[in-house]
Amino acid sequence: MIAAKKGCVRVRITFHGATRQVTGSAHLLEIGKHRVLLDCGLHDHDRVDPNSLNREFLFDPRTLDAVILSHAHNDHIGRLPRLVRQGFKGNIYATHATGDITGVMLRDSARIQKNEWAYAQATQHCLTDPLFELIDVEHVVDQIRRIDYKVPTEILPGLSMTYHDAGHILGSAMVELKFKEGERDRKFVFTGDLGRRNMGLLPDPTILTGMDVLISESTYGGKVLEPYDVLLKRLHAILARAHRKRGRVIIPAFSLGRTQRLIYCLQELFYRFRVKPMPIFVDSPLSTRLTDIHRDFPDAYTPEARRLMDRDEEYFGSRYVEVCQTPEDSRRLNYHSGPMIVIASSGMCDAGRVRHHLLHAVKEEENAVVIVSYQAEGTLGRKLVDGQRDIKILDRDVQVRCPVYVLDGFSGHADAEDLAWWYEQTGGGIETAFLVHGEPESMEAIAPTLQKFVKNPVIMPEYGSIHEV
Ligand SMILES: [Zn+2]
Repeated sequence: MIAAKKGCVRVRITFHGATRQVTGSAHLLEIGKHRVLLDCGLHDHDRVDPNSLNREFLFDPRTLDAVILSHAHNDHIGRLPRLVRQGFKGNIYATHATGDITGVMLRDSARIQKNEWAYAQATQHCLTDPLFELIDVEHVVDQIRRIDYKVPTEILPGLSMTYHDAGHILGSAMVELKFKEGERDRKFVFTGDLGRRNMGLLPDPTILTGMDVLISESTYGGKVLEPYDVLLKRLHAILARAHRKRGRVIIPAFSLGRTQRLIYCLQELFYRFRVKPMPIFVDSPLSTRLTDIHRDFPDAYTPEARRLMDRDEEYFGSRYVEVCQTPEDSRRLNYHSGPMIVIASSGMCDAGRVRHHLLHAVKEEENAVVIVSYQAEGTLGRKLVDGQRDIKILDRDVQVRCPVYVLDGFSGHADAEDLAWWYEQTGGGIETAFLVHGEPESMEAIAPTLQKFVKNPVIMPEYGSIHEV
């Protein structure tokens, strides 16, 4: 039991990221003597910038007792090696899949940083070091402790943690913390990133009730996304056009989550809806490693998804899916005739092999680009979404002659209706709620909905702000 004298500060939350924006998730909980960090994500800042928020923490990492991860997207785990390098030696809790994915994601991040740093050194005389190196990642991996879903675990004396499936990506979890404050039982819930309902592959987010404090994401708090069956129909029409014109369909996609969701969705079209199949090339070494991990967790998927994927020898690997391991495999696709689909990273088209595929495809009217992810301002993907016809790809001027389709319903994030549904299921009576991981307009749009279930005014914290609850 955590000692608490009447009148003294008992529980404190400090927000170190994902405040009124969507990156750098990190929230420090001080519960009695315990200091626990929820997530340790990378801010979307230039990693070689000496003033980047990613370089320093506003607290001393050596004073933390534990880190609890919600899932393995970089904006939730990307600063872990930095934390360990600066002296954090405690346990890093994760679900089994998140534990496995974290190592793969951080090693890839270390590799990218090494390259970015070398480039910055050569061109800008950059004096800062990379944020972290491979050795720091290996320390992180050593400190990870894997926890099953739904099993309460005493992670520190008197502090019990339970993971619940969030349905966002493989391994994603909501974090439930229970402890005593004097004679009073208290329950905290952190949503991490919440998934969408009825998306086929992963289960709906778990319903949780009776919490005192809630920290909720709000990425799409102001938007209603297209339902899954509409997305399938639109994708079906795009494939039919590709068959007719013998064209290529280029889908830029993040390696973790979006790529596997797309493969499943295409399998569903081929098997369940009898759409005429065409080859699917997955061109990203990182996606290949992550898809392997997806095969290790068959229980993570809905019964319908398992039945469908059971038709093939392995999950996410139907006879129509081919992976490109080497750059030569990738280049060979330029000479492959359509119809065909290429799924490649990066999701925003500003790095990775997808740029080469776009360079070759956008000039021809019979091809198509399908955008399935959020495209940040200034990225090549955003230019395509905005309908720009004269663009630069890999320093070459190119005219876009093929159609660009935007299917943003493939997002792994709950939309405004999903969030409203989840809040309603809590049963209300929440004392204090915080909105994080959303742009201000998304938070403001969803706050009145959440407010119906919360006693005190819903808080949209600022970076570094401290709240006693
Ligand atoms: Zn996420």
